[in-house]
Amino acid sequence: MKKFVLVTGGAGYIGSHTAAALAERGYEPIIYDNLSEGHIEAADGRLLVIGDTADTLKLNELFKKYDFKAVFHFAAASLVGESVKDPAKYYTNNLSAALNLLSVMLNFGVKNIIFSSTCATYGNPVRLPMDEEHPQAPINPYGSSKLMAETVLKDYNAAYGLNYAILRYFNAAGAHPSLPIGESHRHETHLIPLALKTLIKGSGKKLTIFGTDYDTPDGTCIRDYIHVSDLADAHILAMEKLFADGGGFAVNLATGKGHSVKEIIDAVHFVTGLKVPVLTGERRAGDPPVLVAANTLAAHLLGFSPKYTDIHKIIQTAWNWEVNKRF
Ligand code: UDP
Repeated sequence: MKKFVLVTGGAGYIGSHTAAALAERGYEPIIYDNLSEGHIEAADGRLLVIGDTADTLKLNELFKKYDFKAVFHFAAASLVGESVKDPAKYYTNNLSAALNLLSVMLNFGVKNIIFSSTCATYGNPVRLPMDEEHPQAPINPYGSSKLMAETVLKDYNAAYGLNYAILRYFNAAGAHPSLPIGESHRHETHLIPLALKTLIKGSGKKLTIFGTDYDTPDGTCIRDYIHVSDLADAHILAMEKLFADGGGFAVNLATGKGHSVKEIIDAVHFVTGLKVPVLTGERRAGDPPVLVAANTLAAHLLGFSPKYTDIHKIIQTAWNWEVNKRF
């Protein structure tokens, strides 16, 4: 019997890699994406239904047609800066649409959700590395919208028996090592793809380092970069944990290792043999100096350990994608 799972936002970056990993493991992912951020090509031949998670009628049709064993909810807006300028977009997409999806799930008796959350729910670190018990005090509407959705999941678990996995991502990076999918945002804001784009012949681009006066060893911000294929694997382990035990849990997904902006630039040089042209700029609003996770709970609960522990290997897959990208 086919094991259907719904993947909202499955034509986006992390969603497409998870859909691919699900298919590799014998599940039948049905991708549901409004293509506002996603790409048809990222579905990579898998079944794609174009639609919005705010569209109850369309979701009803889909849930009638397929007996979903679980829902992966990736569809969301995820840019910190944009969320400050346009919070309505974030509360509408990340909270209101999520409530809609959850109502449909409950109506159809679908009990398992794997929810994309973020380290932005923690806000500024009060201790490092950040474990799951770290206070959650988001400093922007993106983090707030995700934290509100987390609260909803916990309350629905208590009241309606909904099983949930809250996965708090740190910095997703890299691309699938063999399939033609990778990171492709219409408006790119992330460090690694921006650094790589400066190296494409004739781009004429430069990378601006946002702040060199942070209280870190080299003055630039430190982040915890995790490969997107590792994230995808963790999602499947999370789903299987819900199948086995039900209930609910929240875990960080990260490597537990931090790299500064300057270290990333050096690593890009090491991998590509090319020097990233850089400018030094002002700090970007809302950037904490250091975000590094404690990742032992995911290991303990899910048996998850990232395969990509070397930042060079992560950047190598991102570079392969950048030079061969199809969308
Ligand atoms: N960054 C930078 N220049 C850029 C983009 C990002 O210096 O053009 C820095 C940013 O300030 C942060 C780190 O790189 O410290 C990672 O930023 P990114 O946007 O990739 O991810 P975020 O941590 O914001 O989710």
